[in-house]
Amino acid sequence: TGQLMTGKRGLVMGVANNRSIAWGIAKACADAGAELAFTYQGDALKKRIEPLAAEVGSNLVMPCDVTDPASMDAAFAEIEKAWGSIDFLVHAVAYAPKEALTGRYVDTSLEQFTTAMAVSCHSLAAVSQRAEKLMTEGGSIITLTYYGAEKVIPHYNVMGVAKAALEASVRYLAVDLGRKNIRINAVSAGPIKTLAASGIGDFRYILKWNELNSPLKRGVTIEEVGKTSLYLLSDLGTGVTGEVHHVDAGYHVVGMKAEDAPDM
Ligand code: NAD
Repeated sequence: TGQLMTGKRGLVMGVANNRSIAWGIAKACADAGAELAFTYQGDALKKRIEPLAAEVGSNLVMPCDVTDPASMDAAFAEIEKAWGSIDFLVHAVAYAPKEALTGRYVDTSLEQFTTAMAVSCHSLAAVSQRAEKLMTEGGSIITLTYYGAEKVIPHYNVMGVAKAALEASVRYLAVDLGRKNIRINAVSAGPIKTLAASGIGDFRYILKWNELNSPLKRGVTIEEVGKTSLYLLSDLGTGVTGEVHHVDAGYHVVGMKAEDAPDM
C-alpha cells in the first residue's frame, strides 16, 4: 500500500489506546503514507495518545469531546490552522452508560437514550459538518458500526438502536455531502476486545459465538478493520458512498447458527 495515501491528510477521532479500532485504522493509513492528526476525549487520555501519535509521525493531537460544540469547533480550528484542508476523517466514537448495556432494552431511561444517541450518532453529523468545510478537494469519511444495528444482540440494547440510527445517518450524509465529492461510509466490525467493548455485558460470549459461527471460523483484528478502512478512505474507494461494509469474518451472512455445527 506504499503510495496509496501519500499527500493525504486526515483526522482520526477515537483512539483510546493501542487496542482501539481507530488505532488499527490510523496505522494502516500511516503505513500507506497518510499524514495524521488525532483527537482524544478527556485529559487523562492525553498522555496515552501522544506517544501513539508520535509512532506514526504525528504531533497534531488535540482534545475533542463530541458532546461539546465549542470543543469540536476548537479542534477543527486547530487543524485548519495547521493544515488548511483535510482529505479524510475517521469517526470511531461511541458511548452508552454501562447500566444501559446490560439487562433489557425496554428499561432504557430517556437520559441513557439521549446520551447514547448524542455521542454515538449525532456526533457523526456534528463532525462531518465541520470536516466538510475543510474538505475543499472532496474527501472521505468513515464511521464504525456493529451488527447489533441490524439484529438483536444480547445486552447491546440502546447501542444497537444508536447504531441503526448511525447507519441511516450515513445514507443521509452521503446525499448531503456527495455533491461536494465527499464520500461517507460505515465499517461494520465484528466484535473486538477493546475498552468500549468491555462495557458490554457478556462480551466474551459474543466474541466466542462469532468465532464459532462466522464463515471464516474466527474473529477479526483491528489490522483487518484498518485495511478495509484504507480502501474506503483512499482512492480505491472513489465509487463507494453511503455503504455499510462488514468486516466480520462473514458472520452477518449466516442464517442458521449452531454451537456444535460440525462442518458448516
Ligand atoms: P475504544 O474504547 O478504543 O474507542 C471508543 C472511543 O470513543 C474512545 O477513544 C473514547 O474516548 C471515545 N469517546 C467516547 N465518548 C466520547 C466523547 N464524548 N467525545 C469524544 N470521544 C468519545 O473502543 P472501540 O471498540 O475501538 O470503539 C470504536 C468504535 O468502534 C465505536 O464506534 C464502537 O461502537 C465501534 N465498534 C466496536 C466494536 C468492538 O467490538 N470493539 C465492533 C463494532 C463497532
